[in-house]
Amino acid sequence: AQERYAGLRDLPAQALCGTVISLHMNAGLMADLPSLPSSGAEGVGLFRTELQFLVRNQMPKRAELSALYARVVDAAKGKRVAFRTLDIGSDKVLSYMKPQDEPNPAMGWRAIRLGLDKPGVLRMQIQALIRAASGRHLTVMFPFIANPGEFRLARAEFNKAMERERILGHPLPSEVEVGAMLETPSLAFASYAFFREVDFLSVGGNDLKQFFFAADRENEKVRRRYDMLESSFLELLSGIVGRCASAGTPLSFCGEDAGRPVEAVALAAMGFRTLSMRPASIGPVKSLIRRVNLQEARKVIDDARIRGDESVRPALTDWLARQP
Ligand code: PEP
Ligand code: MG
Repeated sequence: AQERYAGLRDLPAQALCGTVISLHMNAGLMADLPSLPSSGAEGVGLFRTELQFLVRNQMPKRAELSALYARVVDAAKGKRVAFRTLDIGSDKVLSYMKPQDEPNPAMGWRAIRLGLDKPGVLRMQIQALIRAASGRHLTVMFPFIANPGEFRLARAEFNKAMERERILGHPLPSEVEVGAMLETPSLAFASYAFFREVDFLSVGGNDLKQFFFAADRENEKVRRRYDMLESSFLELLSGIVGRCASAGTPLSFCGEDAGRPVEAVALAAMGFRTLSMRPASIGPVKSLIRRVNLQEARKVIDDARIRGDESVRPALTDWLARQP
């Protein structure tokens, strides 16, 4: 199937209306990096750093991490890599961390919450990232930010680490971008000031959807019960797109739905200009985007929403089936 899309590799994901969607890949292990040139991805929109921690049986040392991140940046050859700081919690348990006994680990002491409460590991990781970038562009994003205060504290950690490196006389990154993942509904309704102050936002649709519909993404009984294409969820996304547009905040979507062609068309039609997905999805997504007019897709979606369709999926798939 990959060969089927090989001819598209160097072509843009340009829709018939002229809009170009920037397609990036999700990664987390060194083994993923060869996909960067072969998939035609423009960069790594989500680098899940916890995978490196999960495959070990002891806490990595800062120097090891820094060498590893430097290899990632080297392999990217100037393409942007958005490093997401550790997203561990009681469900992604590191064997070398004290397990927590929590009734609802997905809503528990995870990700940035843990990072801010026990900042040792976060600080070490940030320092490793800054050192790895040395003289190059560095993009960092914090997971599971639920309110502006958490982002401000995390960014303060980042700024302190930059200052320490400067005082030590170490080379700094040439440029930094510090963003947040939007994966709790609360953040979609954060103040306008917050949207202005983040360097970018990336929607973590997997978590955002599970919290929006209150349906555990790990629970087979409910995980497919609700759909990203439900009108209610699109309403949420439309608010996020609108706020980012008025604040001038770069926005991307990096949940699994970005890698499903119909969903990707919907996201692009709703105004997302950057999508990040597993490398194998880039071909199929690009192929469909290139066949459609996003303004027409938007009209189909809006008509379905105005009609009161619970999900825009039937209308959108019907319309897609009628495209040449
Ligand atoms: C998400 O929640 O959509 C996301 C991209 O992060 P993860 O799947 O690693 O939780
Ligand atoms: Mg997530």
